[in-house]
Amino acid sequence: MVTEHTPGKVDMEKIVSLCRRRGFIFPSSEIYGGLSSCWDYGPLGVELKRNIKEAWWQAVVRERDDMIGLDASILMHPQVWAASGHLEGFSDPLADCKSCHQRWRADDLKGDNCPNCGGELTEPRQFNLMFKTFMGPVEDDASTVYLRPETAQGIFVNFQNVLNTTRKRLPFGIAQTGKAFRNEITTGNFIFRSREFEQMEIEYFVKPGTDQKWFDYWLEERFNWYLKLGMKKENLKLRQHTHKELAHYAKDCYDIDFLFPMGWAELEGVANRTDFDLKQHANSSGKNLEYFDDETKEHYIPYVIEPSAGVDRSALAFLCDAYAEERDKDEIRVLLHLHPALAPIKVAVLPLSRKENLASVAKEIYSELRQCWMMQYDDAQSIGRRYRRQDEIGTPLCVTIDFQSLEDEQATIRERDSMNQIRVPIKELKTTLQAKLAGEDLFVLPPGGQIWKEGKA
Ligand code: ATP
Repeated sequence: MVTEHTPGKVDMEKIVSLCRRRGFIFPSSEIYGGLSSCWDYGPLGVELKRNIKEAWWQAVVRERDDMIGLDASILMHPQVWAASGHLEGFSDPLADCKSCHQRWRADDLKGDNCPNCGGELTEPRQFNLMFKTFMGPVEDDASTVYLRPETAQGIFVNFQNVLNTTRKRLPFGIAQTGKAFRNEITTGNFIFRSREFEQMEIEYFVKPGTDQKWFDYWLEERFNWYLKLGMKKENLKLRQHTHKELAHYAKDCYDIDFLFPMGWAELEGVANRTDFDLKQHANSSGKNLEYFDDETKEHYIPYVIEPSAGVDRSALAFLCDAYAEERDKDEIRVLLHLHPALAPIKVAVLPLSRKENLASVAKEIYSELRQCWMMQYDDAQSIGRRYRRQDEIGTPLCVTIDFQSLEDEQATIRERDSMNQIRVPIKELKTTLQAKLAGEDLFVLPPGGQIWKEGKA
C-alpha cells in the first residue's frame, strides 16, 4: 500500500535514468520492446543486489547462533499452496474499466470510476496472483504446479528436516533468499512492484506465549539493519496493520515503510504468523510437525515471527536514499552515498595517463587489490570526469596513480563523499583501503601518509 504523495523527494525518473545509463537495471527483453514489470539487473545492479543479500545473510545467519539458512526449490508440491491458503485466498480484487478495458486493483481505487478515462467499472472479482505452469509433458489439472508467490512456505515444509538435522532448540530461525512470482494486477514504480522479484525471508520459531517478545525484537532488529547500512532514519517508519488489513493467520503485523519517490510504502513486513502455517501443513500432510520441549516435556507447534523483505525494493530504497546532487563549481555532481558494503564497486584505480610506465604500475596495483574487492580500472578521459563517473555509481574510494608515484612510490586515495584526498605509500594501500572501507576517518593516516587535499577535487 502506498500512502501520501510526497513531492520534493528524489525524482523516480532520475533513478530510472541513472540505472539505465550506468548499467544497474534494464527492462527485461528490451530488444523485443520489454516485458511488462520484469527487469534485468546489469553489471552494477547485480553487484548491488548481491551485496544487499550478502549483508542480510551476514546479519541474520552468519553472525547468529540461533539462525540457519535454507534454499528450497521454487516449484513445490501443489498441496503446499492448498494448505497455506494461497490457492483459495491469495488474490486481489480486480475491477475492469468497461470503456478503456484497463484493469485496476479495486482496493487501491479512490472513487467508483476508472482513474484513466473516468469510465464505469465492473464489479470487483477475485483474481489469484499465482503463476501456473505444468510439470511433465501433459498439460492437465493433475500436472498443474505454481511458481512460488513467497519463499516462506519452503521453510515451513522443511521445519522438521532442519530440526532433525541441526538439533536446534527453540527459539531458532531459518533464513532464505530467493525468487518469488506474483501475477500482480497493477505494477509499476520501477522495481518496486514487479511480477518476478526476490525475497529475503526469516521464519523464527518460538514457544507460544513468548511470541510478542520476539515480535518486538525482530521489528527493532530489522529496522536497525537498514540504519546500519546507512539508510536515513527520516526515510523509514513503522506502520502497524489495521485490523482490516491483517492477514487471517496473523496476530499482528508491522510494515517497515520507506519514503519512496511516490510516497511512503512497504519495504519489509514483520508478522506474527502464530502456529497457522505449521498446523496447516501438519493437517494437510498428515506429518507430525510438533516440537518436543525437553525442558517442560511438552509437545507443541511453535509460533512463528516472520520478517519478510524484498531484495528489489531494498535496492530501490537504498538507491533513492543514497541519491544526491551537489553543486560543484559550475557543475552538478551526481553521487550515490551508498554504504561501502553495498557499493557495487569498492575501489577504482585511475592512472593519470595511459603512458606505459604509469599504466604498468597502476595495473599491478589493480590486479593485486581486485583479489580483495570488486574494482574498476578506468583510464579514459580527464581525471575529473573519471571521479564523477565513480561518484555517480557510488564508488567510495578512488586510487590515483600519477607520475610522482613512479618516484616516491605513493598513491592518492580520494574519498567520494568529502572529496578529500590523502597520499599514502603504495605498500600501505591495501590496509589503508581496508580500514577506510570499514569506516575509519580518511585523515587517520598510515605510516608515511599525508593529507593531500581537503574538499573539492
Ligand atoms: P504489497 O502490499 O506491496 O503488495 P505485500 O504485503 O503483499 O506487499 P508481502 O507478501 O508481505 O508483500 O511480501 C514481503 C516483501 O516482499 C514485501 O515487503 C516486498 O519487499 C516484497 N514484495 C512483495 N511483492 C512484491 C512485488 N510484486 N515486487 C517486488 N517486491 C515485492
